Amino acid sequence: MTESRRAIPEELKRAIRQRCGFGCVICGIPLVHIDHIEDYSVVLTHEESNLTLLCPSHHQEKTNGLLSREAVRAANDDPWNLRTGVTTPYLLHYGEESPTFVISGQEFRAPAGAEYFVPFMIDGAALILVEREAGQALISLRMNDVFDFPQLIIARNEILMSAAAYDVQLKGNTLTIREAPGKILVELVFDVSANKVRLERGTFRLNGVQWVIAKDQPIVLPTQTIGSISIGAASVTFGTQIGLGLGICPPDASIGARIPQIDRYTRGPAKLPKQK
Ligand SMILES: [Zn+2]
Repeated sequence: MTESRRAIPEELKRAIRQRCGFGCVICGIPLVHIDHIEDYSVVLTHEESNLTLLCPSHHQEKTNGLLSREAVRAANDDPWNLRTGVTTPYLLHYGEESPTFVISGQEFRAPAGAEYFVPFMIDGAALILVEREAGQALISLRMNDVFDFPQLIIARNEILMSAAAYDVQLKGNTLTIREAPGKILVELVFDVSANKVRLERGTFRLNGVQWVIAKDQPIVLPTQTIGSISIGAASVTFGTQIGLGLGICPPDASIGARIPQIDRYTRGPAKLPKQK
């Protein structure tokens, strides 16, 4: 009787991702497979100590005999990303035209011909920026923890993540970062063929402003004095290069809609509102 190959339990997969710093143990790229260092056909079990993360290239090299088990084992003991504290940059392949940002199902588009576009800013800082330079759209994005320490940075199409996050997963074209069990910092879908970046859920933070984007919920901004604002339109084109300005934004900047009086939390994890 042959034993059928059982799936690796999710909890075990997460433990491996955490131990390997969310990237290939050799090069750190976050696009990975779980690899059995000794072949599964030999060991017939998913022993944690025998499992590691490899990118498609290094996985293929191992299969082809160009990368030894010993080298993989050594890297597994000292994963690349844990040495640097961040994942190796992973390059997004968007094209010439500025991609549309879809936040909570609502589309934020750059005005025609714009050289740059900021869907929203907080206190004058762009947490998302789309630039067009030399026939290439370049995306930048930043997501912070409650202390404004960056957990995800996209710097001109290069994705960088903290290797100290609770969990990071790049599965298909969906990037999910969790800050704690059951607590998603961001779920981003890079729909390159539709030229869209879809933010399914996530939390943008800066200077105590916290904007929580819940899945399949309309956009709700945390404003105190004017109640919460819901943006009803399916597509938001502000006609300005900066869409929403939350908090204290430069008075002379051309901003589509200003919301200066925005709620701010007091620093500290105890004050963090619960997220679905
Ligand atoms: Zn690799």
